[in-house]
Formats: sequence, C-alpha cells, structure tokens
Amino acid sequence: MKINWDAHACLPLHPDADFSPLDRLREAGVNYVSVNVGMDMNPLAQIMSVLAGFRATIAANPQRFVLASSVADIEAAAVRGVLAVGFDLEGALPLLEQPDMLALYQSLGVRQIHFAYNRNNSVADGCHDAVRGLTPLGHRMVEAVNKTGLLMDCSHTGRRCSLDIMAASSQPVIFSHANPLALSEHGRNITDEQILACAATGGVVCLSGVSAFLGNDAPTATDMARHAAYVANLVGVQHVGIGLDISFRQPELNDSPPPPYDPVYWWPRAAGYDRSVQRMCYTPVETWRLLADALQRVGLTALDAEAVMGGNMLRVAGAVWPSE
Ligand SMILES: [Zn+2]
Repeated sequence: MKINWDAHACLPLHPDADFSPLDRLREAGVNYVSVNVGMDMNPLAQIMSVLAGFRATIAANPQRFVLASSVADIEAAAVRGVLAVGFDLEGALPLLEQPDMLALYQSLGVRQIHFAYNRNNSVADGCHDAVRGLTPLGHRMVEAVNKTGLLMDCSHTGRRCSLDIMAASSQPVIFSHANPLALSEHGRNITDEQILACAATGGVVCLSGVSAFLGNDAPTATDMARHAAYVANLVGVQHVGIGLDISFRQPELNDSPPPPYDPVYWWPRAAGYDRSVQRMCYTPVETWRLLADALQRVGLTALDAEAVMGGNMLRVAGAVWPSE
C-alpha cells in the first residue's frame, strides 16, 4: 500500500494549536505525519500541556485525525482518508535523566525522539556545541529507546555523538529531518560518514525542506529531489525519506518558553543562524504534490519515488514500533 510519510512537522507548542494546517498536509497526499510536542528548551509543564491539548484535538476529530501506534493504524487511516499522527520529542531533557520516561511518553503518543537539540545535555551532544560523544547515561537511553520501541532519531545531534548512537543502537536509526553537508554547508547538515552509518543500521535519512539546510532561500520540490538523489546515490534509495519540517506558525498563540529562554543560545549566530529563525523559509505543503515527478526527473523510478515518499519509513517503523 502506498503511504506518504512526513517525518517531522511543527505546530505551535500550545494546547490550543489549530490543527487545520495538518488538513492541508492530508489534502496534499500525506498519510502520516510526526508532530513535534517539545524540544530541550521547553519545560515539562509546557510539554505535558501540549500533549494533553493535542491528544484532545485528535480525539475530538476522528473524521480528520487518528493517533497512530502501529503501521496497521496508518494503513487503516489511509484507507479511510484520515491523517495518522504520531508525536516526536526533540531532545532528552524532557526525560529527566530517567529511561522509564520513554515508555510513559510512548503511552501518550510519542513515536520518535532525538536526544539533543543543537546543544549538549547530560545524555547527548547537540550539533552546535562542544564535541564529547554519547554519555554513559546516553548509552542507557539508547538501550531504553530500542527496548521501548521508539524510532531513534539523530537530527540536531552532534556528529560524533550521532555515530556513537548509531553504533550502539540494535535497531534502525533515522534522521527525521536533515540534509547532506556535501550539498549545503551548514552545521545542522550531516556528513557522508553519518549517512553511511545510518544506512548501515538499516535506517532512513529524511530530507528537510528548510531553506538554510537546502541551500536555497526559496526551496522547492526540485531542491528536495536533488538532496534525495544525493543520498540515494551514496547509500541506496531504500535509505531515503522526507521530513519537510514545516513550522505552521499561529502568531496569535504565544508558545515561547518562559524566561530565561534565549533563542540565540539554541540557534547560535556563529553556527549559521545569522538571520532570525522566525524568518526561515520552508518548502510549501504543496511540495508533496510535486515530489513524485521531481524525484523521477532526477532519475528515480516511480517505485523508488514511492519508497522515498513513505515506503522506507513504513518499513523502519514496522520493524521498530511494537506491533499490536
Ligand atoms: Zn528540528
């Protein structure tokens, strides 16, 4: 069954976030989307409030959304024309240094996690911070992610630390939203060594649609396809996916973390965030309608394009998530 899988999207981190942007994703052909519910800069109170609000919105709109816990849920939702949703965490701080928190978040709908958001913490390194590697606690956390059955994600993670995670993981590892450094010089982008290590786990590199990482101020499906072709040529098309990473902003909702929140700490100017993060551009939702053709224009077959647009992530989730 053909499933289109968007491995990462952001709504306002506010319990009252309007879910109608997700309807636009569904109308553009997406069957499953992973929605962020918190990053390392967000306090636990905010993350819990967001989880409660998002779960309530999904439960109140069964004709539009379903909280998916298995690949079977996603396929059943696709048949009904409903968007399957899972949640993701960006950073290990919400785990409170306690591996058992992973199962708790899983019971609330979290399906994927990376351990650091740009900056170092007690578990892992961020991609814009000093190099240490995966900490002893981090090794226990990787084991717990594998045992719990969550997707281990290495986006936003330090390069050496991500290699440590991929070596330690007994399950396929993904990058839910990352781009090849060889095509666009940015600290958030990943080296060929990281891409090869991800493929060696059986995992998938999902290309992001963010302007700064694609290297185009007005990114398009063609840019996505170019990045997808690079990863496919390096490690094989079965290791390529899509995580557009669109931030659906709703200016009337204030979702800033409380003081002393400092955006320049999380998105350092020296790391290439010279312009305001608020001004970052994203490939539009409509990219999903154009991707199959764009991927075929860079040499993929129609079947390869289907694998990139969702089949590969479906395979990995089927292997990693607990089956019901
Ligand atoms: Zn992110």
